[in-house]
Amino acid sequence: MLERFSPRLRRALVIAGIVFRFVLFFGGLGFAVWFAVVWFPDAYNPFVPPDIRDEPNIVTGLKLRGLADEYDICVSVVRASGTKYRRDSIASDSEGCGMPQGLTLEQSRISYGGGIQLTCPATAALLMWERHVVAPAAAEHLGSEVARVRHYGTYACRNVNNEKGGRRSGHARGDAIDISGFDLADGRRITVLDDWDGDTPEGRFLAAVHEGACGLFSTVLGPDYNDLHANHFHFEMARWGICR
Ligand SMILES: [Zn+2]
Repeated sequence: MLERFSPRLRRALVIAGIVFRFVLFFGGLGFAVWFAVVWFPDAYNPFVPPDIRDEPNIVTGLKLRGLADEYDICVSVVRASGTKYRRDSIASDSEGCGMPQGLTLEQSRISYGGGIQLTCPATAALLMWERHVVAPAAAEHLGSEVARVRHYGTYACRNVNNEKGGRRSGHARGDAIDISGFDLADGRRITVLDDWDGDTPEGRFLAAVHEGACGLFSTVLGPDYNDLHANHFHFEMARWGICR
């Protein structure tokens, strides 16, 4: 079609075409940068630290794991949620144990029967789980609030399943908590051992809080994983993920 025009006009049209594409490309790029930096909501931006008060979404797990090497940022995330905590550290030793940048969670919305030692990202995940998973699941399935979470421990210098010569557990880094049950404000008590897998309000509550932990912690294990977890959930901030 360009053959109909004079060589000069053809050249001008080709140059105009190049300029047009150039403008389109950089205009689009500029728009993308503007969208990412200015407009994109913080809750969906994986480069912005999580806010424990925000409803979890598809990038929350990524944000929580991103706190692993950002101790000061992580502590400010926990502080912003209004939780009582103190900085706590256990020196790393040659045995592969230690929690150099951890916290002791002293008081949150739910009691753990005393302070618990966890790494900061695991604490942040636990706080989100309390607020956005446990509280609504208790209201929906049980009609009562959870007053206390029962657990078998957090930091512990030991191997996976306590096996001799095995690899170190997430507990040996303070990245994991073993949750065994829940005490309700109305006096009822729910245990993973007795109430898991039941077609009851208690069973549905346990299924909901197990499933809801999966988007927050990277590793979530329960009675369906193996017999060693028949009486507790293992929640862990790990590099790899599994939810069973
Ligand atoms: Zn465990």
